[in-house]
Amino acid sequence: MTQTQRPQRLYLDTPVTYLKGVGTVRAEALRRLGIITAGDLLFHVPHRYEDASTVTPIKSLEPGMHGTMIGTVISKGVIPTRKGLRIFQAVLRDDTGMIEVSWPGQPFLDRTINKGDVLLVTGSVRFFHGRQFQPREFVNLGDEEGATTQGRVLSVYPATEGLSFKLIRSIIDTHLDALLPQVSEYLPSDVLGTAGVPGIADALRMVHRPTSIAEAMAGRSRLAFEELFFVQLLQLRAKELARERRAGITFVNRRELTSQLRERLSFQLTGAQTRAIREIFADMCSDRRMHRLLQGDVGSGKTIVALFAALLAIENGYQAAIMVPTELLAEQHARTMTELLAPLGVEPILLTGSLPVRERKAIAARLATGDPVLVVGTHALVQDATSFAKLGFAAIDEQHRFGVEQRKALGAKGEAPDILLMSATPIPRSLALTLYGDLDLSILDERPPGRRPIMTALRHESGRARVLQFIDRQIEQGRQGYVVYPIIEESEKSDLKAATTMYETLATGPFAARRLALLHGRVPNDERDDTMRRFRDRQIDLLIATTVIEVGIDVPNATVMLIEHPERFGLSQLHQLRGRVGRGAEESFCILLGDVSPDVSERLQIFAHSEDGFEIAREDLRLRGMGDLFGERQSGVPTFRIADPLRDEELNDRARAAAAQLLARDPGLERPEHAGLRRVLGERYARSLELFRVG
Ligand code: ADP
Ligand code: MG
Repeated sequence: MTQTQRPQRLYLDTPVTYLKGVGTVRAEALRRLGIITAGDLLFHVPHRYEDASTVTPIKSLEPGMHGTMIGTVISKGVIPTRKGLRIFQAVLRDDTGMIEVSWPGQPFLDRTINKGDVLLVTGSVRFFHGRQFQPREFVNLGDEEGATTQGRVLSVYPATEGLSFKLIRSIIDTHLDALLPQVSEYLPSDVLGTAGVPGIADALRMVHRPTSIAEAMAGRSRLAFEELFFVQLLQLRAKELARERRAGITFVNRRELTSQLRERLSFQLTGAQTRAIREIFADMCSDRRMHRLLQGDVGSGKTIVALFAALLAIENGYQAAIMVPTELLAEQHARTMTELLAPLGVEPILLTGSLPVRERKAIAARLATGDPVLVVGTHALVQDATSFAKLGFAAIDEQHRFGVEQRKALGAKGEAPDILLMSATPIPRSLALTLYGDLDLSILDERPPGRRPIMTALRHESGRARVLQFIDRQIEQGRQGYVVYPIIEESEKSDLKAATTMYETLATGPFAARRLALLHGRVPNDERDDTMRRFRDRQIDLLIATTVIEVGIDVPNATVMLIEHPERFGLSQLHQLRGRVGRGAEESFCILLGDVSPDVSERLQIFAHSEDGFEIAREDLRLRGMGDLFGERQSGVPTFRIADPLRDEELNDRARAAAAQLLARDPGLERPEHAGLRRVLGERYARSLELFRVG
């Protein structure tokens, strides 16, 4: 009888296909989770734990209590409410009693939760026609006997289609004992010492098979530490290498154009702006090339800072370029800059893709002569047809909207121009140092004086009509506004209101007499720009939109913003959105509309009561972790699987210190005792190939 032989012994590099219980189908599912070899299984760590050792008997659950319970589903169903919200409800029973559990707005759970399933649910109990359990989180243990999980910690793994967390747990559990002894330590012992975290084999055992939550957390801290440590090693090394390579232009601070601009400003620079300009000038006047990130909240006045830098280049006989993500922003910048600079005899050139070819050619010709001009434009600036004879300074506004390649391409348009990246995502310094560790950092942490606060309020569904009337009155008074939705189109999977459908509803109903327009990510670029232009020119009263309106648009006459389903947005994102109003002399309003849970309401209150982007970001990070702050993944920013540089702030500081110490001793990690470290870096980070010549 011939049969495929499975290898006798299991090694870390054995493909998962050979594992007992894993066939080709499951191997494919594992591959989707990034698990190719048996060793990869070890690093697929639980994303959370449920502590079944503290389960409360259902009978003892009292209104007001928070707790965990385990029960069998004895009935279930979706019930609609009068307000159109659909609620999934189930009744759970254990040996002591029954309780109703209610998931508002999650009718889809009906498909995954079955009668007879055992659920482990954490949450709180409220009084509503008797006791009702309000779940915060739950795990479906399937028809597994609830009793078997009592008294231990339940590891919950990231799962994927066709491979439940339970299956993953059983695969990992089966092979853990064979694999762990083969794992050898790769962090240098002094680094481990400074870190105060367990060794790798211990840590892996602790995360997969903890005897208590505390032990699981100790194991996790090791894995989080190494992730932070690796990223810092790469960042610090990159910065060091760049410093060696980076000969730049040495500008001279002539105080000609820049002093004139300062005198002509109708306002005083804030302390933060003055500091940032000083830092930038110091870079530009040194013989090193500047590579700096200017970070500041919406409205903190980044543009003017970039303008000072541009003028320094120009008064030294160099060209300056400012690149922005949309045509509209380019036009807006060009207009405000023209006002400021015309009296100085500097006339900004606007370069976008929609200019007639003839004009673009004329601009290209001018740039090729080396005339010291300022160009403001879109990515048209980095296209082949555009070449600068003497580019000395390049700024990239809303930098996260550009890919790494586009950012590099602008820098490559000159010999070694000084580079300023600008970002409105306000993140705390320690986090910025980790994410952008290979850049120098200037922060605008001060708002220009005299801004009126934006009145921000949370309203219930029951107040919808009044909210819409309020917006209508604003329009009546000649103002404009935005209504923001989390999604473009309705879907069966959720009960969310969507921009497209609500546009129809609003345009034919409450705002039939007003001029409305629809704006979202699937509207073609030129049409989007056209709509924004008409909005700016007051030909549109109300924009029904998704988050596409987030970026830098300045329409001072827009005074009201309505955000539906505010629970779907991160606080920082709400803050960015809100920044579209409150830009003129009139009082402005931001209204969050919806019936949200008490937890969410608490979170939204933080937002309603603060206009400090840094404070809001910190809160956001604390509550929801990193993923949400960068709604879409920022290219070029390291991502973390386990660590969270802000929540793990102290660990992060230790990692940075340890990385710096190690590089001081062995900059290229070439010593034999660092071979293990090099190997792991090479396996995990493509960048390490170039930075440490690994592999
Ligand atoms: P952002 O940092 O969001 O790009 P902007 O550069 O667009 O902000 O500036 C927002 C507004 O604040 C602009 O109208 C600008 O003229 C104004 N502004 C900038 N700096 C100051 C200041 N120091 N005092 C008063 N107003 C300022
Ligand atoms: Mg800006």
